[in-house]
Amino acid sequence: DSSTPTSLGQQPSAHMGSSVANPVLRLDGIRKSYGETEVLKGISFDIQPHEVVALLGPSGSGKSTLMRCVNLLERVNDGQIWLGDTDITDPRINQDKARSRIGVVFQQFNLFPHMSVMRNVTLAAIKVHHWQKDRAYERATELLERIGMQAKADAYPDQLSGGQQQRVAIARALMTNPELLLLDEITSALDPMLVGEVLDMVTELKEQGTTILMATHEMSFAHEAADRIVLLRNGVIAEQGTPHEVMDESQNPLTKEFFSHFR
Ligand code: ADP
Ligand code: MG
Repeated sequence: DSSTPTSLGQQPSAHMGSSVANPVLRLDGIRKSYGETEVLKGISFDIQPHEVVALLGPSGSGKSTLMRCVNLLERVNDGQIWLGDTDITDPRINQDKARSRIGVVFQQFNLFPHMSVMRNVTLAAIKVHHWQKDRAYERATELLERIGMQAKADAYPDQLSGGQQQRVAIARALMTNPELLLLDEITSALDPMLVGEVLDMVTELKEQGTTILMATHEMSFAHEAADRIVLLRNGVIAEQGTPHEVMDESQNPLTKEFFSHFR
C-alpha cells in the first residue's frame, strides 16, 4: 500500500496494508435529518491513522452536519460512528471524554474575544477536561511556541490577524492530543492574503502524522494535501478516491461540473 504515510512508530499494523490497520474513525451508515429533510442518507467511510481526508461537496451538501455528528454536537438518526474501538453514538458513553479525543476548528468565531490567547487555549482543557492549570499552561506554551505565537500569549484575539486567530484555534484543538482533527472550512472567512499561513500549518500537522478530516473549498490545497477525497452530493458519497482520481479523472458529468467552478 504505497499510500500508507510515514509511521510515527506507534502503528506497526499500518505497514501490513490498510485492510488490517485499525481506523481512527469509522462511519457506518450515518443518517441525519432535520425535520422532513434527510441531509445525510447513509454515509460510510473510514479514516486510517495519519490519513488526511478532504470532505468536498457543494454548499449545503452536509459537510458541516457530518462533522457536527462526529463531534457529537448533533445526534445521528441512524448508523454508528466509531472512534478507535468506541462507538461514540452509543448514548451510554461519556461524551466529554469522547470529545477530548477529537480536535475541532470551525470557519469563524473560534476564540472568545474577552479572553487572552492563553486563556482561550487552556479553557476547555481546564473546565471541560479537568486538567490542572499548570499542566494546561505548560501544554499551551509548548503549542504556542511550536506555531511561533508564544509572544502573543497575553494578547486578545482582536490584536491578532484572522490567520493568527485560526492558528491559535488549531493550537487549542490540539491541546488534548486528539486522535482526530476536524477542520471545517477554516480558511473560508479569511482575507485571501492570510489563507496561506493557515494552510501551511495544516501541511505541517500532516507531516507530523496528524489524522485530519477537513471540509474545504481550497481545491488546490485539497489536491496537494489530501490522501483521499470524499465527495458528497445529495446526501450520499458521490465519489471517493485519490485527489487525482476524483478531481482530475472522474468521468461523472456532475463531478466535472462541480470542480470546474474552482478552476
Ligand atoms: P455544508 O456544510 O456542506 O454547506 P450543511 O451541513 O451546513 O452543509 O447543511 C446541509 C443541509 O442541512 C442544508 O440544507 C442546511 O440548510 C441543512 N441544515 C444544516 N443545519 C441545520 C439545522 N440546524 N436545522 C435545519 N437544517 C439544517
Ligand atoms: Mg459547512
